[in-house]
Amino acid sequence: MDYVFDLDATLYQDNGEVENDCERLIQKFFAERLNFTDAQSREMREKILRRFYYEAQAMEPMFGISEKEFMDYICATGVSHLSPNPELDRLLAALPGRRFIFTDSTIGHVRDTLRQIKVNERRFEQIFDAECSGFCFKFQKAAFEAFFKATGTDPHNSILFEDSLRNLKMAKSFGMSTILISPSAIQKEKFVDLQFPDINKALAYFIKQKTAHFLKK
Ligand SMILES: [Mg+2]
Repeated sequence: MDYVFDLDATLYQDNGEVENDCERLIQKFFAERLNFTDAQSREMREKILRRFYYEAQAMEPMFGISEKEFMDYICATGVSHLSPNPELDRLLAALPGRRFIFTDSTIGHVRDTLRQIKVNERRFEQIFDAECSGFCFKFQKAAFEAFFKATGTDPHNSILFEDSLRNLKMAKSFGMSTILISPSAIQKEKFVDLQFPDINKALAYFIKQKTAHFLKK
C-alpha cells in the first residue's frame, strides 16, 4: 500500500497564511524581478493565465527565467507560525506501507515545513515536488503520470490525502483512493471517498480500521 500526501493545508492546517505569503511573493517577483507596476502585473498575470496553467509555466517562454528560479522564489514562504505536530510523526511511522509527499511546491519549502511541524523527512520514501513533475501541477494529468512513473506507485493500490478537490478529482480519474482533508462541511462529491477534518484523524482511522478493508469497499 502506498500513502501519498499533499503538503500544504494537508500535513498542517493554518488560516491560509502560507498561501497568502506565496501570493505576496508572486507580486514581489513581478514587481522586483520583472519590473512591473501593480497594474501591469495584474494585466500580465491575467494574460498569462489565458495561455498557461500557472504563472511558473510562462516564465521561460515569456521572460527567459527558469521555472525553478520562479518557484524557489515564491515558495520561500514563512512557516514559523505552524504548530509542531509530533503526533503526526508517530502516526506516519505506524502506517503499514510506503509514504510519499506529492506537492506542487518545492523541496526547500517541504523541508522547511517538516522541520517546523517536527515531522521526520525520513518517514517518506520520496518527496516529489514541482521540479520532479517538470513543473506540471496536480490539476494536470501529466503531473500524476510523472508521479506514478517516478515512484512506481500503482494508483489502484494507493491513497491520496489532499485538501484540493480539483486534485482529488484528477487522482480519482486514475483510480486512486481519495481522502479529503478539510475542516469545512462534508463534501458529497463522488470522487471523494472519505473526508477528515485533519490529517491526524485520517491517519488514526487508517491505522485502526486497516487500510485493506477500506480499499475493498
Ligand atoms: Mg494543498
